Amino acid sequence: LVKIEHLYKEFDSDTKVLKDINLTINKNEVIAILGPSGTGKSTLLRCLNYLTEPTSGVISISDVTVDAAHHTKKEILELRKHSSMVFQSYNLFKNKTALENVMEALTQVQKKPKAEAEKIALELLGKVGMLERKDFYPSKLSGGQQQRVGIARALAVNPNVLLFDEPTSALDPELVGEVLNTIKKLAEEGTTMILVTHEVGFAREVATRVLFMDGGQIAADGTPEKIIDHPENPRIRQFLNFVN
Ligand code: ATP
Ligand code: MG
Repeated sequence: LVKIEHLYKEFDSDTKVLKDINLTINKNEVIAILGPSGTGKSTLLRCLNYLTEPTSGVISISDVTVDAAHHTKKEILELRKHSSMVFQSYNLFKNKTALENVMEALTQVQKKPKAEAEKIALELLGKVGMLERKDFYPSKLSGGQQQRVGIARALAVNPNVLLFDEPTSALDPELVGEVLNTIKKLAEEGTTMILVTHEVGFAREVATRVLFMDGGQIAADGTPEKIIDHPENPRIRQFLNFVN
């Protein structure tokens, strides 16, 4: 479903952030990406939808392939239709209700008629447990609730793969659980996801596959049992000791 070939990203000649990332992700996989700060995890996610333009390499999602060396604007727009990102801070429109935030993607991006958009949006808000607060503005919602609306909004465009960049790290500890439960539910439904997270316990529980990134490369790739419970790489052991 997702294929990354020889992906490199440098911001300038002395910040080489991604160094030859190669990765194939199958449908229904839930990938957790762990790794120290500054190692390129966010950059990797952002390259997947060209929020950050790679220096070189080829990215394919579903039937769209974009080569950093030669691509058109249209190919990037096509690529972006296939994934959807949930950010650390929820980025909801402040002057729109929860429902309107979710509908926005459907009416503006997908040009769906309002009635249909509303039906889909209500369904998605139900899925993330936010139906009761559908008419609330973001300022009247907790961080966890806003993040769940953010997830519903990301789902609205019906992406092939859902990308999460530390979706709980801006939340108060007591609100982390409800967002993780929402993500867990999506995982159980077979949603393909790539999740950058510092929640090692959650990665252990929900991911079908764990990547450990270090120094702009994928240093380990395997089952949660292998990478988290029985790490061979001393860097991973050090990292796990540090976060636990
Ligand atoms: P964290 O766990 O702290 O979120 P990360 O693994 O997500 O870290 P990235 O945000 O991908 O790390 O950053 C990797 C490196 O790229 C860092 O050294 C960062 O300073 C650099 N970097 C990221 N974005 C830019 C940019 N727009 N311009 C220049 N350097 C950047
Ligand atoms: Mg990051």
